[in-house]
Order: sequence, then C-alpha cells, then structure tokens
Amino acid sequence: MKGSHSGQRSKPRPGSKSPESGSRPTVEKPAADLPDGDILGDDHDQDVTPDLALDIDPEALELPAGRGCLGLVATPIGNLGDISARALDWLRAADIVACEDSRVSGRLLQHFSIAKKLIIYHDHNAEEVRPVLLRHLQQGARLALISDAGTPLISDPGYKLVRAAADAGIKVTALPGPSAPVMALILSGLPTDRFLFAGFLPVKSTARRQVAAELAAVPASLIFFETAPRLTDSLADLAAILGDRPAAVARELTKLYEEVRRGSLSELAMHYRNAGPPRGEIVLVVGPPALETDVAFDLDAALRQALAGLSVKDAAASVAATSGLKRRLVYARALELARTVAVEPEDEPQDR
Ligand code: SAM
Repeated sequence: MKGSHSGQRSKPRPGSKSPESGSRPTVEKPAADLPDGDILGDDHDQDVTPDLALDIDPEALELPAGRGCLGLVATPIGNLGDISARALDWLRAADIVACEDSRVSGRLLQHFSIAKKLIIYHDHNAEEVRPVLLRHLQQGARLALISDAGTPLISDPGYKLVRAAADAGIKVTALPGPSAPVMALILSGLPTDRFLFAGFLPVKSTARRQVAAELAAVPASLIFFETAPRLTDSLADLAAILGDRPAAVARELTKLYEEVRRGSLSELAMHYRNAGPPRGEIVLVVGPPALETDVAFDLDAALRQALAGLSVKDAAASVAATSGLKRRLVYARALELARTVAVEPEDEPQDR
C-alpha cells in the first residue's frame, strides 16, 4: 500500500503539542479513559475551555504498552484551517492511518507535514482489510481512521470497524470536528431540535419519491446529500411528496464559494431550474412537516372533551399524558379554552 510521505518534520501548530518534537510521541488519552467530568464535566453550565483538555499531563496520556486504540479523526470538509489540534496530535502519534483514498489523505497529511503508513479501507475492500486493521490494533497499534473529508463514518465506511474493535475490547475514541450535514443544518435556519440524516437521495425519481414518502411523517428536519446535476429534480420530487416545505441548499461549505440558499422546496426548484445546477458539493435540508396546526386542532378537541368532566388541571394532565405533549403547553392551552367558556382555572368542572 502506497502512502504519501513527506519526510519533513512537523511544524508546530497553535494550540497543538507536536509529539515529533520530543523523543517519544505522545498521544491524547481517549476521553473514554478519563474519569467522568475530567474534561467536559457534568455541569454544562460551567465555562469549559479547550485549555482544560490540553492541561492534562502528557505523561498521563500514554496508552499502556501493548494496548491498541482506534481513533476516529475528523478532517476538514474544505477549509484546512478546520482541523483540530487534537486531530493533528492524534494523526502525528498514530502508527497507522486508515483512509479511503491514499491520494486525498496523502495530500492532507502532507499539508501538515505528517508522514504515516496509510492503509486503504473503503466499502469495496472492507471485508478483507478489517481483520488486518484489527490485528494491528490487537498488537498494540494506534490506528487513526479518517475519511476523504469530514467526520468518518458519516456516510463513509467505518462503523463495522468500530463494532469489531469494541467487540474485541479495543479502546475506541473520536477526535470530533467538521461534518457537512451538521454544518448545513445549523446554517439552514430550520428547526434543529430534531433532525434525521438520510444520506444520499436515490438517483432515480421513483425511488427518490418513495424515500420521501417514507420520511413524510417524520416530525424532524431532514438532511440529505445531493449532487449538483440532480438537485433541481430532487427538489421538485420532494416538493411533490412532502408538500412545499421550507428548505435550504447548503453548498461548498467552509470553501471560497460557500452559499446557503433558503426558500420553499418549489421556490428552490424553480431557482435552480432557471439558474442552472450549482457547482460543488451540496447538502439539502428540509423542514419538518407543519404539525402545529393539526396538533392545535386535535389538542383543542381533546381538551374540550376532557374539560367537560375534569378541572383544568386534571384535564391538562390527562391530555398531556395521552398525547405525549408537554404538560406546560397543554395546561396553557387548557386555561385559554377554559377562559373562553368562563371556567376559572381550578374550578370544578361545569356541565357542557
Ligand atoms: N463524512 C463527511 C462529513 O462528515 O461531512 C460526508 C461524506 S459524504 C461521502 C460526501 C457528501 O458530503 C458530499 O457528496 C456532499 O453532499 C457532502 N459534503 C461534503 N463536503 C461538503 C461541503 N464542503 N459542502 C457541502 N456539502 C459537502
């Protein structure tokens, strides 16, 4: 297996300790090895700075001899400045880097003056190569798994390696970082409290529409990967099946021509039909179904029925329990309904 070897010493990067500058490479101890709360703590309200993680005594970060570790290392999705200090430390300390394409990853490693043995691991050779990687891990290797771009395993090979390593009692950790679907979601302006990442949409319209139909009732924002030539047809298919929901097309994220275009599915389809397919890499985000009106309608009906025999409080509690809606929300609506029929909040029920 050929890799890219620059043979140069690593340049120190801001915030990163270069293991190559000392006599022995060091490795960040995987978070899983630290007692709860040592890095991030349990209290999310506390101020947490990256320094906390970097303050750990490097000696304490050495893995016990003979124990392998699998690190899932996120790499940039366009802008090389997005690689993290921990990712670089891990890559520098790794014995082996498993990657999808040695040319793509070779260029990345060369940029950071990292020379490593590369092993190609992709969908087509995974069954043969996984046992080899496992053997290296069992013999004590530090293995970094990277993909062509972004977070490995997200629409990229890797989960079976994680499962196999975990089953073999090998430590697995992740060096988190860029991921196109999450970046697109947070830029979309669409609800982020629930989302479903659905990978690539099918190439053919019939299959695409079928996928859309399967996802139509999911009460969450939907995230898809799409290619530029298919974007317009996919937007039109989604509009036909999901209705004209709000959506966003996120393109060339972190790159020079980064763009996020927001609009309804049919507006976006019309835009790209007129303007022609955009260039570059694309993530499509679609808003959740407009459930609120239906929920309000059903909620009102359920509450009116409950209020006919119960106090406001009990009616709200009962409807919240059966609907799964938040108690506070249901109680607020029950109060409003009760007022319109002149029921005091905690009055005894009236006949209706
Ligand atoms: N593992 C990657 C991640 O975490 O972002 C995703 C890999 S997936 C095989 C490749 C797809 O991700 C592309 O076809 C495109 O849809 C999306 N993608 C990757 N980089 C992107 C970028 N810079 N801007 C927009 N979409 C991107």
